[in-house]
Amino acid sequence: MDVVNQLESEVRSYCRTWPATFNRAVGHHMYDVDGRQYLDFFAGAGALNYGHNNPAMKEKLLEYLSNDGIVHSLDMVTVAKEAFLEKFNETILKPRDLEYKMQFPGPTGTNAVEAAMKLARKVTGREEIVSFTNAFHGMTLGSLSITGNSSKRSGGGMAVRGGQTMPYDGYMGDDVDTVEYLQSFLENSSSGIDAPAAIIFETVQAEGGLSTASNGWMRRIEALCREYGALLIVDDIQAGCGRTGTFFSFETAGIKPDIVLLSKSLSGYGLPVSLVLLKPELDIWDPGEHNGTFRGHNPAFVTATEALNYWKTPVFYGALKAKSARINEALSEIVDTHPDVTEVRGRGMIQGIVMDPKLCADVQAEAFRRGLIIETSGAESEVLKLLPPLTIDDLGLEEGLSIIKNSVNAVSESTLTTATG
Ligand SMILES: *Cc1c(COP(=O)(O)O)cnc(C)c1O
Repeated sequence: MDVVNQLESEVRSYCRTWPATFNRAVGHHMYDVDGRQYLDFFAGAGALNYGHNNPAMKEKLLEYLSNDGIVHSLDMVTVAKEAFLEKFNETILKPRDLEYKMQFPGPTGTNAVEAAMKLARKVTGREEIVSFTNAFHGMTLGSLSITGNSSKRSGGGMAVRGGQTMPYDGYMGDDVDTVEYLQSFLENSSSGIDAPAAIIFETVQAEGGLSTASNGWMRRIEALCREYGALLIVDDIQAGCGRTGTFFSFETAGIKPDIVLLSKSLSGYGLPVSLVLLKPELDIWDPGEHNGTFRGHNPAFVTATEALNYWKTPVFYGALKAKSARINEALSEIVDTHPDVTEVRGRGMIQGIVMDPKLCADVQAEAFRRGLIIETSGAESEVLKLLPPLTIDDLGLEEGLSIIKNSVNAVSESTLTTATG
């Protein structure tokens, strides 16, 4: 810890929330150097949907490495890449009647967002990208231009342009239809807003406070895109790869986005890789036009290919549904019994509870003292956000849910004691 405080930049963040030095992790548990065990309800911000060091993926990875499999190849063809492309197409795309070509940009999510924005502009010859309030799409300048949070957006130290923010589903209350609102700008050539190259959204605003888009809203946004010649981009970097209960988070709406972005849990193992899925007719890139040294990391292909096996078994979908319902029930109970916890948000295995930001930080710290790693979300970090591995067993899930309940009890009680004493 001392060496980190001394040598690592002040930009470090998560280590401030969870001050421990970790040395091992298995499934939904992490361990620190003092031998303490933690339950992980953060799961690498959704990069570890199948838990830490998933045994099936580890075996495939170790085998690949011990046979001197290719680790780095730029985008030269490897057997690891061929296997992934084929299995992703067979296991994920075809059964969902989706036809996409696959582009591997740089290894992080924001690289996929940048690639999608470039492509949308190239395809349409338009500049503006419509995004939504509380959106988060990454920390590079292009992604920041479509990100809601002002402190993140101003971090580049220069004006970020080319993005146009519109109200997300529900942002203006129950009485305002935000699709109609957006349409009123698109249909009027004097509205001050140019015809957009694309509309991009998250189905669940993972960093922005867990607001969710309804199926109807998503379908109507898709219809707007078709009507006004804009591409529809779904940023499924955090909500995808099964987090909401289906492989793609938009499956419930039955929409067919022009471009879909995946990253965080795509490799399934925490190895960085990201993917842009694009409709074949949009594939007008010139060779090398969007290049990079680390695109489509081979060890990540190996584990990603193995991870796809989960999506072949109906039992897995059923378990996700049951666990999601249980999370909702437990969180609703906290809302019902605590006046200062106001709302359950999110869906599937990404849900959270809304409270005062100070209380939320206290609950998070108390949970950590009780051995639970859990993140907050939202503009003021006012949402306690649950991201347990999808593979967590019932015992682990119940343990985490009761730590959350007990932490809320402990902290709001002590708040009450301080206030009256
Ligand atoms: C994390 C995230 C990104 C950015 O991914 P990085 O790997 O951090 O660059 C983009 N969009 C969404 C929805 C995310 O959750």
